[in-house]
Amino acid sequence: MSTLKSEAERCLKCKVPGCSKGCPVSTPIPQVLTLFLEGKLKQAGELLFNNNPLSAVTSIVCPHDKNCKGHCILNRKGEPVSFYRVEEYISSFFIETYQPPQIRKISKKIGVVGAGPAGITISIILALKGYSITLFDAMDGIGGALRYGIPEFRLSKGILEVYKKILDTLEVKFRPNTRIGTNISAEDMFLDGYDAIAICTGTSQPNRFGLLGETLGHVHFAIDYLKSPDAYKLGRKVVIIGAGNVAIDAARTAIRKEHSEVTILNYKAPEDMRAYKSEVEMAIIDGVKFLHQYQAVRIADKFVRCVRVNKSVAEDGAVNFTEDFQSSLEVSADSVIIAIGQGPGADVNSVGNTKVTQRGLLEVDEFGSTSQKGVFAAGDIVTGPKTVIEAVALAKKAAVKIEEYCQNL
Ligand SMILES: Cc1cc2nc3c(=O)[nH]c(=O)nc-3n(C[C@H](O)[C@H](O)[C@H](O)COP(=O)(O)OP(=O)(O)OC[C@H]3O[C@@H](n4cnc5c(N)ncnc54)[C@H](O)[C@@H]3O)c2cc1C
Ligand code: SF4
Repeated sequence: MSTLKSEAERCLKCKVPGCSKGCPVSTPIPQVLTLFLEGKLKQAGELLFNNNPLSAVTSIVCPHDKNCKGHCILNRKGEPVSFYRVEEYISSFFIETYQPPQIRKISKKIGVVGAGPAGITISIILALKGYSITLFDAMDGIGGALRYGIPEFRLSKGILEVYKKILDTLEVKFRPNTRIGTNISAEDMFLDGYDAIAICTGTSQPNRFGLLGETLGHVHFAIDYLKSPDAYKLGRKVVIIGAGNVAIDAARTAIRKEHSEVTILNYKAPEDMRAYKSEVEMAIIDGVKFLHQYQAVRIADKFVRCVRVNKSVAEDGAVNFTEDFQSSLEVSADSVIIAIGQGPGADVNSVGNTKVTQRGLLEVDEFGSTSQKGVFAAGDIVTGPKTVIEAVALAKKAAVKIEEYCQNL
């Protein structure tokens, strides 16, 4: 593997850098690499942090091949620049040695509900501008899906402790184990003097399949399993229904935690899988087996019954999948994990009283304003399940709008 310096030196410093265009927060990649090569590590870190407070995380978990790396001009000739490797080094150095600038306090109070990537980003940006921030989360630590979703082997939880220290340094008050919308609502918060509220509650409720057997004792939802894998006894044979990124994380965790034999049932063909190619590759290396083009139709105590799915491509290019109910197969299973996506759950609007979209997500304008005065939203609760960097991008827009709103109060 090339050294970080030689990787940085390969950048052509394009006038219109494709890599920055491919990044949802337009990271100024050539400028960062120039500062890095000039030995200006702190300035490089500052540039990254001010543009994306979570760059130490996104440099690790972003789908690089689709974003920055996938848009590098060197793709045309051979090997693109792996900027994220340099970004991770600069950003982790910066957050570990973080010193806040002088901050002039403003007498405005913001409540941020949900301490995932969107909530952390809004809290850091507005705390740096002098706002008084209280960050609430239903769970006991910050991070959202970074803590209770992405497994430790992909993202060390230690990094969240570093971010907690930064939030403490910026005097962000954190209220753990506080689910807004049960006994406290947005209305109560306005009564207590909050000027604006940001809802960043994500989408952590698993979608159900609607199959017979879904309530049996050996059946679990992937998103729940990943919250605390040590609480589960899965046994030797684990079947996972669904083949997205969450399914892959659950499979790789089960292999690590219990040395289970894991089979992923993929409804579609290998080339149609939603999971990142790099993650699928790693899952295969870890020993995960895939059964492509099979649909689960029933979960029983010791097996999952599935049927073959045929793929056809119409003349106009439309791809169709149809189950062949004559071709049944039983796959043995001590445990079954369902990973067919997630949503906000039925209580999406319990925090405030805002309009909801047909998909059950919070309705916002392009800047994150909801239909309720003083209430803003960002992250997966607005878009449905996406990526960390997309949550950061929306949170940045919402922070600008919250500031504008507070200045006009
Ligand atoms: C298993 C898994 C793997 C993933 N892997 C990747 C990856 O490799 N790369 C990538 O870029 N993205 C990945 N993602 C997606 C990414 O983590 C999310 O897009 C991102 O975390 C969304 O951020 P958010 O702040 O909107 O929501 P979340 O991270 O979901 O945070 C929401 C927070 O709100 C809290 N909350 C909810 N309701 C309330 C309430 N009423 N009151 C108080 N608090 C509340 C929750 O406890 C949670 O902490 C993954 C997601 C999962 C689940
Ligand atoms: S934030 Fe993500 S997409 Fe943007 S430069 Fe960093 S790794 Fe690439």
